[in-house]
Amino acid sequence: MASVHTLTHKLSSLNISKSNAEPPKDQVQKLLTKFSAPNPLKSKASSTTSKSAALVSSASSSSLKSTQSLKTIYGASKTEKSIPTSSSNDKKEVDIGTYDGGLDSDENEQVSPEDAPDLVLDSSTLSTAPTRNWSLHDFDIGRPLGKGKYGRVYMVRTKTAPKYILAMKTLYKAELVKDHNERQVRREIEIQMHLRHPNVLRLYGYFHDSRRVFLMLEFAGQGELYRQLLKQGRFSPRRSAKYTYQMADALSYLHSKSVIHRDIKPENLLLGLKGELKIADFGWSVHAPGNRRNTLCGTPDYLPPEMVLRKEHGKYVDHWALGVLIYEFLKGSAPFGDKSQQVSMRKIARVEYQFPSTFEEDAKDLIGRLLRFEPRERIPLDEVMVHPWVTKYVPQVASV
Ligand code: ATP
Ligand code: MG
Repeated sequence: MASVHTLTHKLSSLNISKSNAEPPKDQVQKLLTKFSAPNPLKSKASSTTSKSAALVSSASSSSLKSTQSLKTIYGASKTEKSIPTSSSNDKKEVDIGTYDGGLDSDENEQVSPEDAPDLVLDSSTLSTAPTRNWSLHDFDIGRPLGKGKYGRVYMVRTKTAPKYILAMKTLYKAELVKDHNERQVRREIEIQMHLRHPNVLRLYGYFHDSRRVFLMLEFAGQGELYRQLLKQGRFSPRRSAKYTYQMADALSYLHSKSVIHRDIKPENLLLGLKGELKIADFGWSVHAPGNRRNTLCGTPDYLPPEMVLRKEHGKYVDHWALGVLIYEFLKGSAPFGDKSQQVSMRKIARVEYQFPSTFEEDAKDLIGRLLRFEPRERIPLDEVMVHPWVTKYVPQVASV
């Protein structure tokens, strides 16, 4: 039996800071600089990434009206008026908004479920990570960005210069334990912390207090891609091709690190300040070199035949999902979607889908090469990036 208290104790014994630890102010900048997202591709995009982070930070330092004390954070002051957040590209107006007092609203400490040793993060892989230096004291908490399964996500800013803006995801330990999802979260943290790519949402670090785990995530300034797709119905071929290029680039990077995402779908994609795609949500990912899994996971629309048929699967599940994604970008709905999950799964197993007449021939060609029943026959990701349909719209690789 492991209660939340025991888990906290175990985490603490790994020398990860508690929320009441002294804020290491001088280290905030150093750590964020050290661990800020460098581009592994060493291209123009690299300087763009760090430049945009710097712009956000310098813009934000002057824009917040008041610094909130911890008392305000815990005191749930809801009377303050929300400061509107600016549109994505306005460098001078980025503001973290106003905290709504929601962080501490849940009182869920009653849960004492079965054994949950998996919340103890692997100290051998995480011992060099900066997480032990962080606590809630290091941040001004701003507006809520969204609600996740285990808690809310807030826009936050480091208190010390250069006042980086981040997204802080809260996970209630009691809820994690209740759902037996500690392993999944631990995996998400372990995987995401080690990834560095402009199209992969960065996890800068994590820390915890007695009830919650906090994830310090890269702030995705333009929010969810899914919401934009809903709003617009579908994306133009140009926009779809740009996302396709970025997806293929990011997935190729993940696969080179032996990380299979396994849950690629519009809901798990966020957009950065400049509209660049960011793969998020690593809850279903596996980091398993040479190890094929046969767990059924993900939502039906994006499941590949090998998973529907409960066969072993590997990295090619992400290739399949990319094919489904491109189709959904262009049409506004997924190729195998059906009201009945069973029908949908049958269609997937038979690779039964139709192209709308509006699809361009070369787009159909690429999608067809990704949606192959045989995983190994799916087109390699580096070939996706130079496929005629992609290069037609994304001619300058460096400018993506
Ligand atoms: P779900 O299972 O419902 O997807 P979750 O626990 O995976 O929930 P997230 O999807 O990570 O939670 O976060 C919930 C919402 O918060 C997102 O849909 C998004 O709107 C917002 N959000 C999360 N992370 C960020 C981020 N880094 N930048 C901006 N917004 C974010
Ligand atoms: Mg999510």
